[in-house]
Amino acid sequence: MLVSLKSVLTKARKGKYAVPAFNINDLEFLQAIVEVAKKLKSPVIVQTSEGAIKYAGMENLANMVKTAAKKDLKIVFHLDHGKDLKIIKKALSAGYTSVMFDGSALPYAENLKLTKKVVGWAHKKGISVEAELGAIKGVEDLVSVSEKEAILTNPKQAAEFVKKTDCDALAVAIGTSHGAYKFKGTPKLDLKRLKEISKSVQVPLVLHGASGVSSYLVKMIRQCGGEIGCAKGNSDSEIKKAINSGICKINIDTDLRLAFTAGVRCKLKRDKKVFDPRQILGAAKEIMEKVIAEKIKLCGSGEKL
Ligand SMILES: [Zn+2]
Repeated sequence: MLVSLKSVLTKARKGKYAVPAFNINDLEFLQAIVEVAKKLKSPVIVQTSEGAIKYAGMENLANMVKTAAKKDLKIVFHLDHGKDLKIIKKALSAGYTSVMFDGSALPYAENLKLTKKVVGWAHKKGISVEAELGAIKGVEDLVSVSEKEAILTNPKQAAEFVKKTDCDALAVAIGTSHGAYKFKGTPKLDLKRLKEISKSVQVPLVLHGASGVSSYLVKMIRQCGGEIGCAKGNSDSEIKKAINSGICKINIDTDLRLAFTAGVRCKLKRDKKVFDPRQILGAAKEIMEKVIAEKIKLCGSGEKL
């Protein structure tokens, strides 16, 4: 069934585990997620970015997710990085059980005002809201402490922000970065800052940009002649520490894109005669399923339905 983000993350916060949030772009991504979630009895967050909506259409995506959310599953249907208020409003009527309003690029007062507005709209319908404070980008590229301070989430400000906006979850900037080609050096999470935020804020925290390509995925990408973009992602042990320090939702987008592409690349390279899209996409699904299972294990959300 479809459930709210708040219900799933409140339980995760108490149980000290995280729930993985996978971005989908088409049917194959959703099928892979549902298959593994069912097998491992894990709640999952299925999310679509504004880019995915532009590509596949909100109605198509919503209908697919609603159909997939059978009784024996717990799926949160979430809008990732909602920046356009028109798209957020549409999502609130399309069947999403959670939306993110990303006002992190706006001045603090503006972010607060608009987040509050979105929370007002969403809560009337029992829909959860994830907000963001601080900018999630390549901290490793910044040299000075003041530069880092300017973009990382401030614990005191976070407490005030959550109290004033009444948001249900907060995405924090603690040193992760979006995308595949992201770090020059070895990435490191600011776990001290995370613990401080977790102490001062009463809602579950969200980690974006935490792709950390596993040895399995690295092997698959290399085998098929692909290039590794994010070999320097955050390590699993660091992610585990982040979960122990208050992270309850982990966003996974890049890893699944890499898995999908590795599957397609492998199939086409190994089988020069293949022309059936079901065989090509089926190979992509297989690799995605393995990565999804790895992420569920890392989050500790198996057997938590
Ligand atoms: Zn993100």
